[in-house]
This record gives sequence, structure tokens and C-alpha cells, in this order.
Amino acid sequence: MKLFNSLTGKKEEFVPIIENKIRMYACGPTVYNYFHIGNARTFMVFDAMRKYFKYRGYEVTFAQNFTDVDDKIINKANEEKATTEKISEKYIKEYFYDAELLGISKADSHPKVTENMQEIIEFISSLIDNEYAYIVEGDVYFDVSKYEEYGKLSKQNLDELRAGSRVEVKEIKRNPLDFALWKTAKEGEPSWETKWGRGRPGWHIECSAMIEKTFGGTIDIHGGGSDLKFPHHENEIAQSEALTGKPLANYWLHVGFLNIDNKKMSKSLNNFFTVREIQEEFDLEVIRFFLLSAHYRSPLNFSRELVESAQRGLERLYNAKNNLGYLITHADATLPTENEMELTRELNSFIEKFSTEMDDDFNTANGIAVIFDLVKYINSNIDEHTSMNALKTAQEILAELCGVLGLLAKKDENSLEDEIEELIEERQRARKNKDFKKADEIRDKLLAKEIVLEDTPSGVKWARK
Ligand code: AMP
Ligand code: ZN
Repeated sequence: MKLFNSLTGKKEEFVPIIENKIRMYACGPTVYNYFHIGNARTFMVFDAMRKYFKYRGYEVTFAQNFTDVDDKIINKANEEKATTEKISEKYIKEYFYDAELLGISKADSHPKVTENMQEIIEFISSLIDNEYAYIVEGDVYFDVSKYEEYGKLSKQNLDELRAGSRVEVKEIKRNPLDFALWKTAKEGEPSWETKWGRGRPGWHIECSAMIEKTFGGTIDIHGGGSDLKFPHHENEIAQSEALTGKPLANYWLHVGFLNIDNKKMSKSLNNFFTVREIQEEFDLEVIRFFLLSAHYRSPLNFSRELVESAQRGLERLYNAKNNLGYLITHADATLPTENEMELTRELNSFIEKFSTEMDDDFNTANGIAVIFDLVKYINSNIDEHTSMNALKTAQEILAELCGVLGLLAKKDENSLEDEIEELIEERQRARKNKDFKKADEIRDKLLAKEIVLEDTPSGVKWARK
């Protein structure tokens, strides 16, 4: 498998540190609002990569943080006369709600700044002890001049960066490029005690500290949106690599920006859309399909016409799935037909084609094109005379390839009913075996699907809530 590594500027063969295991970390949201469609693209890409790696047989550990200490959260808390904890707690809950509807799974861990304060303080303390950082008036700054490789990710050298930087009035830093690791406490803001004074961490330090705590050393993949390359990821590298002398991550992956009608999304242009707003108009599976239909590194334009065209594309996939389902329940040709071998061989070849595209720097755009070729093949070669074996192969392959991308996730009404019946039978068996814990678990599982059970003298009945 090949990945484009922003650090080397090349597409490289991907070799994880430990064979078959992948440790990846993506920078997550600052939780002061519902997340927007641009954020959704980046979260979606890392979720889909993780699913694809698993499909390829890797064991993946994935962490994505929540920034729950930040100016924007403090401002929102002041506006709403609430505590910062209330604000961040609310938007973490809302993150999971929208993410689930987009088919984005929970990461293996979602570390928060407030829950890692000790590690953050210790990290800064070690940087001060090793003279990579200095204290001025209760603030702590990273001394960029002490880290020679500064600029290696964004491909800028220190002289260029210095020439381009702005010297602020009342500058207290030694060098305008130095960045804050710790900010001294201000009235009414959340703050924590340290040996150099009360305050709160700057933004960049959290990811370095959390990666160290979660993984304890170099990770395989680190990523985020392309805006994070500089300064956020550059600063993460400087802090971590200065201190440990080891790479923070071997592969740096950056997701292209999503624009709206070819313009940068911004509140002032009135073209800022949260996922919550979009779901009033579009099914979020359409949005998932749309976001994955471009290569992750390309910029992506979001417009109503493009989403509507994605909607039609997804419908074609559902039609193929439903037609196969219909043929399987109605076909009479259960015996192998003459061309069955040829048909199953051709169908299977799409798996290989799909993986070849996805292995090439995770090219979901071409991967989806292969799925459409498969659908075209199914539509012109499969009908009511096709053998059951070939029909089932077609059904499985379509579900497998779409499943990797988290698509065609909706159950049709028939299979939903089958699943409910199966769960009810399983519950009956559990009750018979006096395994009431399991029986209750199944009842709860059904409840989560909005199915209620009623025990009647003539057996168990179910209904939608
Ligand atoms: P934030 O909450 O602003 O820190 O952003 C969370 C993630 O979304 C980061 O990885 C950002 O790089 C990414 N991101 C922000 N805006 C966009 C956008 N318009 N397109 C793609 N990714 C974005
Ligand atoms: Zn980060």
C-alpha cells in the first residue's frame, strides 16, 4: 500500500512500525459548536482509512482528541453565561450524534485536554528543564531557534519564516516564531496550577502530550486537514522531536480543504454549514458518499448540484442492491448455469481492482468508480436466469466493497424484520436457559432500534415505538 507522506512530499510504500499493527492519531474538533461540513470531510477520511486498513487485515488503534480548553470555548461560555465544561460537554455529545449519522465510528480513544492536564504540564516542564522552552511573565514559549529542523513539514526554512513573520507590539517572546506552550491565567478563565504559575495550555502542546500518553513513542500515521500543516503540526513536531529525539509520526497525511461554491467557507460570507443544518435537507449517507467521491488530498467543492448528483449516484448503488435482493428471493435458476464460472470470476475481479485503487494512496474516487463498473457489469450480465450462486456472489461483493466505505448501510425493511425476529428468538432461548442478563441485554438492543416487546399468552409480540 502506498501513502502520500506530507513530510517527504512523496508517495511512499507504507510500512508500519510493528508488522500488521497501525497506530494513528488525527487532530479532532475544538468543541464549541456543531461541526461543519469541512470538519466532516477530515473526520470522515480518517474514519474511512481506518475501516480500509482493517479490511486489509491490519489491527488499528486510532485516537482523535477533543480540544476542550480554548479561547473559542471560553468566548462561547461567556456569551451563553455557561461554564466552559458545559459548553464542551454539550458539543462532544453533539459530535458523536452527527458522527454516527455520517457513519463515522467512535475512535479507540478520544482524549480531552482537561483529562490530560498532568501529562501536558509534565511535557512543558521537561521542555523547560531541557532549555527548549522559556518562561516570560507566567507564559511559557517554545524556543524555535533550538530546534534546527523547524519548518521541515511545511517545507519552509527558518530564515524565510522569520522574514515573513510579524513582530507584534509589546512582544515578550525572544523570537516572533516562538509559540506559546502555556498562557498565564486571566480573570474568569479556566486555569491550572504549575510550578511556574497558574494558567492554561496553548493549543499545540495537547497533541504531543496525548500521543505520548496514548502510544508512548513514534506512531505510524498522524493527520488532519491541510490547514494544520503549519503551524500546528510543525509545532507538534518541534516539541515532541526536540524532547524525545525520535520522530513523532512516520507518515503525515493531510486532507484537502472543502470549499462551498468554490469559496472558502466563512460565517461572514454566509456560506458556513454545520452537518446539523445539512441533515435537514440531505440524508447523511449521501453526504458520506459525496465526501468520499473525491481523492482525500484534492480540494473538494461543495454545492447543491454536486450533492444532488451524489444522491443519484448512491441511488444507483441501492437500486443494484435491491434488484439483487429481489432476484435472490424470486429466481428459479438455483442450478449452476453454463457461464457461472466465468461470471463469478469476473465478479471477483472487482475486489482486486478496488483494492488496487485504494492501495494507491487511498484513492476512494477511483475505488467508487470500480464499484460503478461492478454495478454496470451486474446490470448487463445478471438477470432472472442467473444461478443462485452467482447472484449471491454479486450481492456479497457489492456489499463488501460498499461496506468498506461505510455505504449501503441502510437495511431494507425485510432484512430488518428478519434481524428483529432472530433477536427475539435468541432472547427466548436465553430466558429458557435462565440467562436473564442476556435476555435483558437483547431487550435493550431492540429498544435501541425503537422496538418494544410485549410478552403475551400467545408468545412475544413486537411493535415499533
Ligand atoms: P477545528 O475544530 O477547526 O480544529 O477542525 C477540526 C479538523 O477539521 C481539523 O483537522 C481541520 O484541519 C479540519 N478542517 C477545518 N476546516 C476544514 C475544511 N474546510 N475542509 C477540510 N477540513 C477542515
Ligand atoms: Zn493536533
